Amino acid sequence: MRAVDLIIKKRDKGILTREEIEFFVEGFTSGAIPDYQAAAWAMAVLLNGMTDQETTDLTLAMAHSGEVLDLSGAVKIAVDKHSTGGVGDKTTLVVEPLVAACGLPVGKMSGRGLGFSGGTLDKMESIPGFNINLTREQFISQLAKEGLVLAGQSGDLAPADGKMYALRDVTGTVQSIPLIASSVMSKKIAAGAQAIVLDVKLGNGAFMQNLEEGRKLAELMVSIGKLSGRTTVALLSDMNQPLGFAVGNALEVKEAIETLHGGGPHDFREHCLVVASQLLRVGGKAPSAQAGRELAEKALTDGSAWQAFRRLVQIQGGDVSYVDHTEKFPLAPIIETVPAPQSGTLKTIHARTIGETSVEMGAGRAVKSDAIDHRVGIIVHRKVGEQVKAGDPVFTIHANSQASLAQARQRLLSALEFSAAPVEELPLFYGVID
Ligand code: URA
Repeated sequence: MRAVDLIIKKRDKGILTREEIEFFVEGFTSGAIPDYQAAAWAMAVLLNGMTDQETTDLTLAMAHSGEVLDLSGAVKIAVDKHSTGGVGDKTTLVVEPLVAACGLPVGKMSGRGLGFSGGTLDKMESIPGFNINLTREQFISQLAKEGLVLAGQSGDLAPADGKMYALRDVTGTVQSIPLIASSVMSKKIAAGAQAIVLDVKLGNGAFMQNLEEGRKLAELMVSIGKLSGRTTVALLSDMNQPLGFAVGNALEVKEAIETLHGGGPHDFREHCLVVASQLLRVGGKAPSAQAGRELAEKALTDGSAWQAFRRLVQIQGGDVSYVDHTEKFPLAPIIETVPAPQSGTLKTIHARTIGETSVEMGAGRAVKSDAIDHRVGIIVHRKVGEQVKAGDPVFTIHANSQASLAQARQRLLSALEFSAAPVEELPLFYGVID
C-alpha cells in the first residue's frame, strides 16, 4: 500500500477500507508518512467527506495509535468532557475542578488552539510550570490519588491525533465533521473515561456553523462513543458570540479563576453549571441534571471547586502563587479600550472575527512552531441584545505592539453590528443529544 494512492482515492471521492485507514494512521504516527502527504489527505477528507463507517474506523485507528487507558483499576468511574472548539471557551478550567470537587473523578485529555479557537493546554500553560506532558502511569496514578488530571496528547495517548491536530491547525483542514469527530473521540477513547459529555459548539465562532451541522457532528460522536462502550451525551451550545468576556490565554485563566471564586460573567458561569450538571448525571453522582446542578452550585459557592483547581495546578507543577494572586500574570505592554462607534442595540459580536483577531495578535499559531504570547487577547465588554451608547467601552485590547493594536482595533470594530430595534439575547444551548 502507498500513501499517495490513498490520497488519490480520497481525492476521487473513494471510500477507504479499514485496512487502508489503519495503514495511513500507523504510517503517519511512526513518521513513515510525512506531514505533506498527511496534509494533502486531510484536505481531500475535508473536501470529499467520509462515510460514518470510515469516520468510526479513523477514530478507532487514532485512539489505538498509542495506549488506550483502562481506568477501571484506578477509579470506579471517571468522566471526561470535550468542547469542539470556540472563542472564549475556558469551560474546562472551571468544570473539571467543579466536578472533581463533587467527588467524581475527571481524567481529561485536552488540545491546543486550533484555527481561530483557543485551546485548554495553551491557556493552562499561561501558569508558569504547569506540565501537560504526563505519561500513562502519571495520568492513572494522579487520577487515582487526586481525582483530577488534565493532560495533552503527548506521550502515549492518541499520538496520531496529537500530530494530525497540529497539522490541521495550520493547513486549513479543521472544519470537517469526520476530522473533528475522530479527533475528539479518539482522545476520549484513549483517555479511558467511561462517561463523556461533549460540548458541540455552533455558530460563526465554531467549526459547525448551524444547528443542522452541529447535530450531525453530535450524533456521529455520540454513536462512536456508544460503539466503544462509553456513555456519551452531547450538548449543542451557542458560539455566535464569545463565551464570557475574555479571549486570550492568560486573560481567560483569570476569568476562570474569578468564576471559581463565585463571580465571573453570567453566561460563562451558567454554561459551566449546565456542563457540570450533565457530567454529574452521566457519572452517576446525581440522579438528574437538576440534582447535578444543585451539587455543582454548592461546589462553586463553598470554595471547594476553587480548591480543586488550585490543587490541580499544584500537582501538575504550576506556580500556585499566580493563581492565588492573579496580578502576577504578566500583562501585555499595550492595553487600550475601544469605545462603541455609535449608539444602538448590539445585534452581532462576531465570535470568529474576535477569535481570529486574538490569534493574529499572538494568542494562537500561524505555523506549527509558533510560540504563543500568553499575555495578549481581548476583553469583550458587552453581549448581543445589550444597548450601548456611542463612547461606551466595547473592547479592551491587550497587544504586544502598536501595529498589532491598530490592526486589532480595526478588525474588532468590524465584528460589531448595531440595530435601532430591540434584539433578543442569544440562547446558551440548543439541545441535548442523549
Ligand atoms: N477539538 C478537538 O479535539 N479536535 C478537533 O478537531 C476540534 C476540536
